[in-house]
Amino acid sequence: MSQVPKKLRLATVWLGGCSGCHMSFLDLDELLIELVEKVDIVYGPLVDTKKFPEEVDICLVEGAVTNVENLELARSIRSNSKLVISFGDCAVTGNVTSMRNRIPVKDLLTAVYHEAQAPIGAESLEVLPALLKKALPLHQAIKVDIYLPGCPPAPERIAAALTALLDNRPVDL
Ligand code: SF4
Repeated sequence: MSQVPKKLRLATVWLGGCSGCHMSFLDLDELLIELVEKVDIVYGPLVDTKKFPEEVDICLVEGAVTNVENLELARSIRSNSKLVISFGDCAVTGNVTSMRNRIPVKDLLTAVYHEAQAPIGAESLEVLPALLKKALPLHQAIKVDIYLPGCPPAPERIAAALTALLDNRPVDL
């Protein structure tokens, strides 16, 4: 009796980005249907799992590493994934996300939350994860295996990369 081939475990992660890279992923349209026949999507905005799982084969990471929560998640991704893909310009270079951590965040949040017409209390500032001094491209936080640039990467490029990986061919971008 022939064995059913094991599905690859795919994760997608949204760090400091606008979600545009994930929108481009969703634009794979019918390829998504082919994809779910070959992979299990085990983590990401489309999956209701809070903890990053173990034994992930491929992980696409959108966005820069901007705060302590992102950094912790990035390290967990690296420990639990065979192949990490820096997905989009924010992950590859920092891109627009890298401009934001240098603004006086405390003043900004105080103005928004405490001095607005409907202040929501000092505790609101405490629950936000602390920002890093500057937003980091992913490879400055963890080792990256493949870079998939673009803002966002075109669906055709995402498809080319994933198809090559699923066929066990080198990714030629
Ligand atoms: Fe958004 Fe572009 Fe950054 Fe992707 S690379 S998260 S589309 S700004």
